[in-house]
Order: sequence, then structure tokens, then C-alpha cells
Amino acid sequence: MHLQYCIHEYKKVNLFHYDTELDNIYMKIRFHCSQLKADQYKYNFIPNSKCTECNKNKQETIHHYFMVCTKYIHQRKLLKQNISNMSPYFQNLSNRQLISIVEGHKNPDIDTNIYKNIYQFIKLYIATTGRFAA
Ligand SMILES: [Zn+2]
Repeated sequence: MHLQYCIHEYKKVNLFHYDTELDNIYMKIRFHCSQLKADQYKYNFIPNSKCTECNKNKQETIHHYFMVCTKYIHQRKLLKQNISNMSPYFQNLSNRQLISIVEGHKNPDIDTNIYKNIYQFIKLYIATTGRFAA
């Protein structure tokens, strides 16, 4: 049921706005049906959700991938820097704020063009981590 909904939502968004590989990957992350171990484990595709990138015995969730995994320290620093530079509102960005942005939540007081730029930075993070490389 959840997987069907997930695919449905993903296709709906995909048809109208997104066409590149990177957009697809980002959308799958947002809808929790990505190649991240926690998503794969949820649908019983793999036996456990442990991150094999850092081997710190942690679940590879969105939070782990964007905030914690020690393999992506440099990419993460750049992502936070890029987002902080977009608006004073995003300075001193907390982890909770960043995850909220990644998941597509918007502050209505912030110009949507700023979010468009931020989504580019998020996709840059996804690309430069190489985590989803084919
Ligand atoms: Zn990790």
C-alpha cells in the first residue's frame, strides 16, 4: 500500500517537473523509496539498514546520509555553506532545518526562487557524494 502510494506520488511529480536522473534520485529520497539502506530495508529488499559507506554501525537514513555519515564531510560543509549564503534566514542552519528543506518543506516567507537554488545545491550534494552513482 505504502509502496504503491510512493510510486504514484513519485510518478505524478516526475511527469510534470522532473526529467533528469539527479531529479529522479532526489525525488526518491524525498518519498522514502530511494537506494538508501533504510528505504531498501523498509521494503524488505535487503536484510538490514546499516550504512556500508562509513561502517559506523548506523542506519542509513536520510538524516544519516545528509547529516552524519563521515564519508561526506566535505560535501556537507559545502551544502551548508551554499544554503546559508542564500538568505540570512538560513544562517546557522540547524540539522533539523536542513532535513526539513531536503524533505521539501518551505517557509512561505522565503522566495520560491531561493528554494529552487537550494534544491540545486541539494542535487549537487547528491551528485558529489557519488552515493547513487550507477
Ligand atoms: Zn554512513
